[in-house]
Amino acid sequence: MQNIYNTLSRKKEVFTPIEPGNVSLYFCGPTVYDFFHIGNARTFTTFDMVGRWLTATGYAVNSVRNITDIDDKIIERAADNNEPISALTERMAAAMFDDADRLNLLRPNASPRATAHIDHMLAMIAILEEKGAAYRAPNGDVYYAVRSFPNYGKLSKKNLDDLQAGERVAIDKNKRDPLDFVLWKAAKPNEPQWPSIFGGGRPGWHIECSAMCKAVLGDTIDIHGGGWDLQFPHHENEIAQSEAANGKPFANYWMHAAFLNFDQEKMSKSLGNFFTLREVLDKLDAVQGGETVRFFLMRGHYRSEVNYTWETLEDARQSLLGLYVALKDVRADGVQIDWANHYAKRFRKAMEDDFNTPMAFAVLHDLRGEVNRSQSTASAGLLRALGGTIGLLQQDAAKFVQGTNIIHFAGVTADAEALDTSGAIVNNPSVDALIAERNTAKKEKNFARADEIRKKLDAAGILLEDKPGGLTEWRRK
Ligand code: AMP
Ligand code: ZN
Repeated sequence: MQNIYNTLSRKKEVFTPIEPGNVSLYFCGPTVYDFFHIGNARTFTTFDMVGRWLTATGYAVNSVRNITDIDDKIIERAADNNEPISALTERMAAAMFDDADRLNLLRPNASPRATAHIDHMLAMIAILEEKGAAYRAPNGDVYYAVRSFPNYGKLSKKNLDDLQAGERVAIDKNKRDPLDFVLWKAAKPNEPQWPSIFGGGRPGWHIECSAMCKAVLGDTIDIHGGGWDLQFPHHENEIAQSEAANGKPFANYWMHAAFLNFDQEKMSKSLGNFFTLREVLDKLDAVQGGETVRFFLMRGHYRSEVNYTWETLEDARQSLLGLYVALKDVRADGVQIDWANHYAKRFRKAMEDDFNTPMAFAVLHDLRGEVNRSQSTASAGLLRALGGTIGLLQQDAAKFVQGTNIIHFAGVTADAEALDTSGAIVNNPSVDALIAERNTAKKEKNFARADEIRKKLDAAGILLEDKPGGLTEWRRK
């Protein structure tokens, strides 16, 4: 039985989908004005893990991650870059998919873009106005009247009067209540606009998700997700809009991924303390990097904050490498999960307990011990297959442990050149070339030279294993 911690009740609940066997999952995606950072990646990876796990246990999952392709930051950035908005958002949406692929995130079943659903948003705003939940302000904006929705605050457990007391923003004469939020922004000069019964303008951010969720998945969905910060006001506002417009519950389970922090603070664009996924991956080995980051992001429970440092990332790489080293010499393909197996049972129990990945990872490490002892295809195959339920351990193990066949060592370029045997000057020699040179040196009884090469490789993080028959295997440390 799957259990999910529901932010709505602040409790773990048994997961019961609306239609048996089917799951509708919506989670808030990126605003495409820049590359996404590894904090965003944590939330996206969490919901990729959720979708994959539910699929692995037999559900048909229909997942949606929206793309916000119109908003203030996009307009500003396009103007800064002196490029059309659509050029910026096309480029960044394409980059988002490329980056997501490198993290092995499955493409959601749908990735709707806000600008393709303006009609749905306008239809919803019109219904809200008809029902008295929205009003036109003197400045041409349309606002949601939060006081018209009695359950406002049910997700974030905030109460309107407390919120009001905390409201320090100068009174906006256009709003009937300072907590009212914008549904439709009246057109401004030099900003994109769409015609509507409310006059030309563009949508507010919150209405995007309510309208796209309804258009793609229907009035009531099973799971709605996002980062912890979106609970209030974004998700609270989504609930107010959707439930007032549709007259039905919006989402049965609300899941929120905790922050990825840097220097004890939430990583965010606005604080400037962020690393884009691509800049992190560019510093890592091309073969190992993507899965290392994924492993790092999933290693803690999704409701616990994680701290990003180079050391925690390297620690994750070591842990993942250990699993792949165990798989390296044992055939592991073609094994189906036997859920009655002791390890599989424990893994499942952990994952069914609100996606307890740290516990599930502990099972993978226990199973690794078993593989090392038994060298059996059954246990190696099970390790690989269990990892596969959450998007891990699917690479060729022999290739993974080696990483790329190139050494990048900073500051020792001259040595690298000197070590190259081909005659050509290369700054980043291949490991194979260096091993070949070492073997030649050994044959010529030039042991000092052979040892020198081994030390260079060692300093570059390459571990050599001399096998009988003069064969040398290598992997990254
Ligand atoms: P944004 O592009 O800022 O709207 O964020 C896209 C998604 O990433 C949302 O679900 C956010 O809640 C989530 N997010 C943003 N920053 C972080 C962070 N530091 N840790 C985890 N999730 C985050
Ligand atoms: Zn949203």
